[in-house]
Amino acid sequence: MLDFDEALEKILKHTKRLPAVKTSVAESLGRVLSTEIKTREPIPRFDSSSVDGFAIRREDINDASKEHPVRLPLQGTRQAGTSRPVSLKPGRTMKIMTGALLPKNTRAVVMKEHVAIDGGIAEFTLPAREGENVRRKGEEFNRGEIVLSRGTIITPPVVGMLATLGFTSIKAYRVPRVALIVTGNELRTPSGTLRAGEIRDSNSYALAAALCAVGISPTLVLHVPDRREQVSKAFARALKKVDVVVSAGGVSVGDYDFVKEVLNDLRVKTVFWRIAMKPGKPNYFGTRGARLVFGLPGNPVSALVSFEMLVMPALRKMMGIHSFEILNSSATLESDVRKRAGRIEFVRAIASRSSDGHLTVRPVEGQGSHMVGGLAAANCLIIFPKESELINKGDVVAIRMLSWNQK
Ligand code: AMP
Ligand code: MG
Repeated sequence: MLDFDEALEKILKHTKRLPAVKTSVAESLGRVLSTEIKTREPIPRFDSSSVDGFAIRREDINDASKEHPVRLPLQGTRQAGTSRPVSLKPGRTMKIMTGALLPKNTRAVVMKEHVAIDGGIAEFTLPAREGENVRRKGEEFNRGEIVLSRGTIITPPVVGMLATLGFTSIKAYRVPRVALIVTGNELRTPSGTLRAGEIRDSNSYALAAALCAVGISPTLVLHVPDRREQVSKAFARALKKVDVVVSAGGVSVGDYDFVKEVLNDLRVKTVFWRIAMKPGKPNYFGTRGARLVFGLPGNPVSALVSFEMLVMPALRKMMGIHSFEILNSSATLESDVRKRAGRIEFVRAIASRSSDGHLTVRPVEGQGSHMVGGLAAANCLIIFPKESELINKGDVVAIRMLSWNQK
C-alpha cells in the first residue's frame, strides 16, 4: 500500500496549474496573479498632508516656543479633493485636511492639536521639522515600479493596492471547476424523514463547504444510489463538465462499491487506490487527460481529512498556490497516544497556547472515522508516523492546522 507522502507526490505530479484568465478585481480574492503589476503613476500621486492641521513654510515658525509663540494669520482652508492650485504666502498659514493637496511652498504641516486659533490667527508654540506630516509624491512607489509580483495571492490589501493603481481587472490563474458526487442507497437529504437503515447525507454539504473555504463553489453536486449504471452516468456527466471530480463513498471493497470499476470503464487511468493512512485508507486517485478524479471514502471524517490532505493541495496548485507550510507546526503532547504500526494516522486534536506561549496539543474524544463531532471539535491533526505505536506525553509532535480552523 502506498505511503501518504508518495500518494500526495503522485497527485501533485499529475496536477497542472490552470491557464490564466482575465478576472475582475472585485472577484479576485484568493486567486493568484499570473503577471507582475507595475505602477502607471507615482504612489502617492501628489504631495499631501497626513494630518488635519496647518500648512506652514517652516521658516516662519523656526523660533516658535512656549515663551515666544509665533502667530500667523490664516490664508484659508484646504479640503481633501480640492484640485485648485494655491501658493502659501510668506508669514501665512493655511488650515489643511488629511489627504488634501499641499499648497505650493508648504514645507511642513503642524497637527491641529498643537495649534491654538484665535480670531483668524494661528498660534504656534513649537518649531516644525522639515517635511513633518507631509506625504510626498512617489514616496511609496515610483512610476513603472513593480508593486506586486507574479504569483501573489490576492488578499484584501492586494485588492486595495490594485484599486489604488487603477486596475479593475487583472490576469489570474483560473479556479478549477469541481463536481461532487456522493454515493449510497442509505443517504437522504437532511430535511427528509429517515427509515431504519437510512442516514442523512453529510458529505455533500461538508465537502461543498470545504471547497467554499478554498474559494470554489461546486459546479455540480450529484447524489447517486449504489447502482452501477447510475454511478457511471454521474461520473460521465461530471467528467464532461469539470476539471476535478471528487466523489465520496463506494470506493472500498463492498459488493456495491462501483466507483473504481465505473471509472475504469470511463477510461479514467488509476494512479493509485488505497493509502496507508488513517482515516482514509480506501482513497482512489485517477486521471483522464488533465482531469483529476478523487474517490474519497464515504466515512465523513475520512472524506474531509482526505479532502484537506490530498484534494486541497491539488486544487491550490491548479490555482497557482504552492505552499501551505504555514499550516505545519509542532506542539507538546498533553497525554500518551497509541496506535498500531503500519499506517500514518491523522489524530484529530486541539492545539492551544499555554500561558508561557508554548503550543500544546491534546487529542479530542471520538476518533472514529464516522465521528464528525471529533473533527468539528478539532483545530488540528497530530501527525502520528506510520511505524510508531506510541507517542508519549511531553513529546514534541508534528501537527497540521486544519485550513478551515477558526479556533
Ligand atoms: P462507503 O465508503 O460507501 O463504504 O461508506 C462508508 C460509511 O460512510 C458508511 O457508513 C456510509 O453510510 C457513510 N457515508 C457514505 N456517504 C455518506 C454521506 N454522503 N454522508 C454521510 N455518511 C456517508
Ligand atoms: Mg457506500
